Amino acid sequence: MTDFSARCPKCDNRSFEPPETLDVALEFACHVCGHQGKLVEFADLATLDAIVDDIKKRALETLRNSNCGDAKAIG
Ligand SMILES: [Zn+2]
Repeated sequence: MTDFSARCPKCDNRSFEPPETLDVALEFACHVCGHQGKLVEFADLATLDAIVDDIKKRALETLRNSNCGDAKAIG
């Protein structure tokens, strides 16, 4: 996993533990000021990029796996 970097939009707190599952829709909360929101509100752009890349990769793999058996007509 790439570096996880997040910042609270309310209080600028930067000490966040990387969540177990990186999902932009994950509920996230600041333990300093109590601000709650989605991970997408907290994560840095570079981190969001990495998360989106990961989601894309996984989606493609799922697609490939599900097409594996009987999709000979495609392509
Ligand atoms: Zn905060």
